[in-house]
Amino acid sequence: MKVLKFGGTSVGSAQRMREVADLVTGSGRKIVVLSAMSGTTNSLVEIANYLYKKNYDGANEVINRLERGYLDTVNELFRKEDFKHKGLELVKSHFDYIKSFTKDVFTVFEEKSVLAQGELITTALFNFYLQENGHDSVLLPALDFMRTNKNNEPDTVYIRENLERIMGEYSDDIQLFITQGYICRNAFGEVDNLQRGGSDYTASLIGAAFDVEEIQIWTDIDGMHNNDPRYVEDTQSIAEISFDEAAELAYFGAKILHPTSVLPAKLANIPVKVLNTMDPDAVGTTISSSQHKDRITAVAAKDGLTAIKIKSGRMLLAFGFMRKVFEIFESYKTPIDMITTSEVGVSVTIDNNRHLEEILDDLRKFSTVEVDYDQVIVCVVGDLVAENKGYANRIFEALKDIPIRMISYGGSEHNISLLINANDKKAALQALSAKLF
Ligand code: ASP
Ligand code: MG
Repeated sequence: MKVLKFGGTSVGSAQRMREVADLVTGSGRKIVVLSAMSGTTNSLVEIANYLYKKNYDGANEVINRLERGYLDTVNELFRKEDFKHKGLELVKSHFDYIKSFTKDVFTVFEEKSVLAQGELITTALFNFYLQENGHDSVLLPALDFMRTNKNNEPDTVYIRENLERIMGEYSDDIQLFITQGYICRNAFGEVDNLQRGGSDYTASLIGAAFDVEEIQIWTDIDGMHNNDPRYVEDTQSIAEISFDEAAELAYFGAKILHPTSVLPAKLANIPVKVLNTMDPDAVGTTISSSQHKDRITAVAAKDGLTAIKIKSGRMLLAFGFMRKVFEIFESYKTPIDMITTSEVGVSVTIDNNRHLEEILDDLRKFSTVEVDYDQVIVCVVGDLVAENKGYANRIFEALKDIPIRMISYGGSEHNISLLINANDKKAALQALSAKLF
């Protein structure tokens, strides 16, 4: 069995859905995970924001626009009157549900239910389309098996048991199962989600639960690239990459794969293929446990970071200083991305400034702090173990004209990270491509 996930752009129109149907209806048993049609979740977020503010005109405008888009898709997608009718009814019922919130209380619970509608509508329409065309497909409700525990982590035992139970209800002849990415229930049984972009995570959790032969992530680019195509010309797609490298790249900027989605596949040792819906025959990228030796694989950049330099005379020869620093970030649930230390201070970066002021206030109680905004982590991923002398030199040679604020090397064998100003990002990415590839 294989798991195939298609992102929002891949199912972004009636025509695209037809193309996806062609890709999934070949031989072999498959679970197909879909995101909501592109733009949907953003619109649902917008609707929720209006509903929080009780701005019902604003909400209705977005709701009606989104509903019209779905009704148009239905009219274009189906040929048979009965399926068109079923599709229109389905869309209407989901939008009636969304509209029911334009009068009442609106809390985070209602928000989560609203956010779930995109995947629910998209998968149901796609499943109708398969059936209209004579395929025996089954819609598996993700809310019946995808679940997180009290720590907001996937409850892998629950997921496996329930998926097995539900799929066991169908005959072995059924080849095609369709389900929603992104949405789940939390430990209390409430509708929830796996965070924005979480459909990739759904796919790898299902893949791991069934120990499938392969997880395919279908998107609109031919795999992971060795640099960011928005800033650098002639980037190349990477044919093979290890789980560890892919995880670093996914986290540090390459928006192709959701960072959390690598781990379940890695633990279950299931290869993940990143493939292009627009060019289905292209090789794409295969992520697996095999690590290419002696190679720089890719460069990526993560924007929007804030660097905080924390200095204290008392750090000198003291123990417990780091713990005090880290506890402050922990107490504000603010993850740290990058760390560098010296004998008198430590610099960290964060990508979430929501509690920055409180964090700084707490740090100031025992240190002096300096803050730099608009920072970018440029990360070079590859086989960067110490024996591979010379890579660091080439990296610094490439960046010789660019001020570097922080450097982190040795945290893993696969990553060198450098913190620079946002203004220097493009030049840095281009210079690294020129020197390294
Ligand atoms: N539809 C959700 C989002 O836009 C999940 C996903 O696309 O993976 O974030
Ligand atoms: Mg995505």
